[in-house]
Amino acid sequence: MRRGQRFFTGFLMVGALTLCGLPLRAAEPIRVMLLDGQQSRSHPWEPTSPFLKEILQQAGLFRVDQVTSPPVGGDFSRFKPDFTNYQVILLNYDTGDDQWPAELKTSFEQYVQNGGGLVVYHGADNSFPGWRAFNLMIGIGGWRGRDEKSGPLWYFREGKLVSDTSPGPAGSHGARLPFQVVTRDAGHPITRDLPKAWMHAADELYATLRGPGENMTVLATAYSDPANKGTGRDEPILMVLSYGKGRVFHSVLGHDLAAMSCAGFIATMQRGTEWAATGKVTQKVPTDFPAADKVSVRTVSAR
Ligand code: ZN
Repeated sequence: MRRGQRFFTGFLMVGALTLCGLPLRAAEPIRVMLLDGQQSRSHPWEPTSPFLKEILQQAGLFRVDQVTSPPVGGDFSRFKPDFTNYQVILLNYDTGDDQWPAELKTSFEQYVQNGGGLVVYHGADNSFPGWRAFNLMIGIGGWRGRDEKSGPLWYFREGKLVSDTSPGPAGSHGARLPFQVVTRDAGHPITRDLPKAWMHAADELYATLRGPGENMTVLATAYSDPANKGTGRDEPILMVLSYGKGRVFHSVLGHDLAAMSCAGFIATMQRGTEWAATGKVTQKVPTDFPAADKVSVRTVSAR
């Protein structure tokens, strides 16, 4: 009788573990902090954050919490997000006042240093020109007073990444037109199986970006056409970096909702976020991914 009870109790325990533990663990989503805020004339986060949240949720892999910083000139003394609860931070943040308290900066640095993932999206690389650790994380950035003191220019020449110490300001782009993105490293999990070249929807093509460029691999470039105020160079578009144990994915794409509707933007953001969080990409390239000569846009209803 007692043996029977023990067996029955054990059976229940195994059953409970199977029902409650294992299936939950297998389906556990990647925890993403979508960190946004600061009012910015060029990059308001209010329309773009719901879109980013929606496309990550559509990938079926992520649980996204939106965390919004105080506005420009606001009180940061109680803004203490716990980065360590997340596997990756997606930064939709264009600083207005560059006034993160030292404690917040240290907590962010330690998070990435200790292996936290970071995704730098478009205007986030305009932020914090004077914060050395942040610039090591993003590799290259533009505007907000950056110049040759921020680091050299980085671009591709004859198929190779070069740095150029010529003096001058950092950050430029022409009118928003479609442009072709060229894969430069097809062996990386983010770009594996992507077409060698694909046509991105009308967007700002960032050029003359500067920065330390340490531990940086450029996965894709685009030709910055002098006919559209461009440099005549192949400019970095998608990058991966390491900062301590942390993985960073940096995409300069996606100025506005029209540019973000590109199936190529959506897929690379979904893949880059998974990679920054886990070091792997399990997602298949979608069938509507753009071809070399044809833009492919998707309708996304973000709430
Ligand atoms: Zn922009």
